[in-house]
Amino acid sequence: MTNALMPTYARLPVTFTKGEGALLWDTDGKQYLDALSGISVCNVGHARREVADAICAQAHTLLHTSNLYQIEHQTALGEKLCALAGLDNVFFGNSGAEANEAAIKIARLYGHNKGVETPTIIVMTNSFHGRTMATVTATGNPKAQAGFGPLLEGFVRVEYGDADAVEALASNPNIVAILVEPIQGEGGIRIPADDYLPRLRSICDQHDWLLMLDEIQAGMCRTGKWFAFQHTAIKPDVMTLAKALGNGVPIGACLAGGKAASVFGPGNHGSTFGGNPLACRAALAVIEVMENEQLAAQATALGEYFLTQFRQSLAGIAGVREIRGKGLMLGIELEKDCAELVKQALAKGLLINVTAGNVIRLLPPLVITPAQADQIITTVTELVRAFL
Ligand SMILES: *Cc1c(COP(=O)(O)O)cnc(C)c1O
Repeated sequence: MTNALMPTYARLPVTFTKGEGALLWDTDGKQYLDALSGISVCNVGHARREVADAICAQAHTLLHTSNLYQIEHQTALGEKLCALAGLDNVFFGNSGAEANEAAIKIARLYGHNKGVETPTIIVMTNSFHGRTMATVTATGNPKAQAGFGPLLEGFVRVEYGDADAVEALASNPNIVAILVEPIQGEGGIRIPADDYLPRLRSICDQHDWLLMLDEIQAGMCRTGKWFAFQHTAIKPDVMTLAKALGNGVPIGACLAGGKAASVFGPGNHGSTFGGNPLACRAALAVIEVMENEQLAAQATALGEYFLTQFRQSLAGIAGVREIRGKGLMLGIELEKDCAELVKQALAKGLLINVTAGNVIRLLPPLVITPAQADQIITTVTELVRAFL
């Protein structure tokens, strides 16, 4: 079926041809409810009219010039994102991995500029930062790294959620930055303690390190705020975005503030497609929908509903270890591996994901209706009950 494609994905045997909101249809016309959003990409829903109109209008006007010139939608999107995040400037690429590559290069140049010859970045266990050589090195998953050595130098890894372990590295003069997800997505919807990011912030301040947050999965209203760090009082020096920023149009962004914002100069970094008129116009339309429909608030309200309902419907079932989430970034951790639930859900017309082996991951579009939320809760509860 997919012989001409490199077999890098274990694909499910289904092809979708059409979508609308949280619904998808396959080649047989069977309807599905999407509780994954292409892994937190289609946050404003499939075939969103405002985004389609923006893409269409831009395609009829101008697709590409070059970063050799000013690009008005890129400038506008940069200003918008900086205002939302409270940061100073942005570099645009085309994916999450590229956004993180930019962050890693900022950290290294920041180090070299202050005389650190082998700048080193603290990264976390269980993390996911992408598949390029630098980002797979930063990723805390031995399976993703296996066979791709030599990996890059300049990374040290500590346990996610453990600020003491970061503090213990303070005497290492090569450290220049921390790269961390505010909530780990691929790692199993792991939510650190409330004081974790604030503690990392103060360690960074004390030692003149950059705090770099990978908000690629948690950002763009997913957790009930524009960015997950906004659940705290701190700000990062660098923040990366991608996934939901374009609702499916490839775009990545690396934002910087304060001293991190003046690291890159002309010639330090670049991308042919990054920040092109089409992707930026689409992202502006996505942000407008999120603002107009107050999707952050919607994620908070529905997220609380999901947690309450699941805690009731799965109460007392042996084998359910934990139900956790923030906004519409939800995980149900079981005691045993449960990858087969994905296929069972698909057969029932529901798209879910299992990550870290035993965590059911739900990332529905932020525009799902309460009735669709109930349908997800009912189906997942049935599946888990039958499975355990
Ligand atoms: C998906 C993801 C990435 C990688 O994004 P790509 O667009 O696939 O390169 C990086 N970090 C996090 C947290 C992600 O969820």
